[in-house]
Amino acid sequence: MGKRKFGKGAHKCTHCGGYGHVYQMHDLKLCRRCFRELAPKIGFKKYS
Ligand SMILES: [Zn+2]
Repeated sequence: MGKRKFGKGAHKCTHCGGYGHVYQMHDLKLCRRCFRELAPKIGFKKYS
């Protein structure tokens, strides 16, 4: 068994600092939660 590290493909949310799937928009990297919260404030339309 090897150690699992966050490497290539793992991103850190620039807002809450959480790791996971983050959306990169402009210069920000936001996780799904922060994205939904901040996107409207930044003027980013929520898409589905
Ligand atoms: Zn976040």
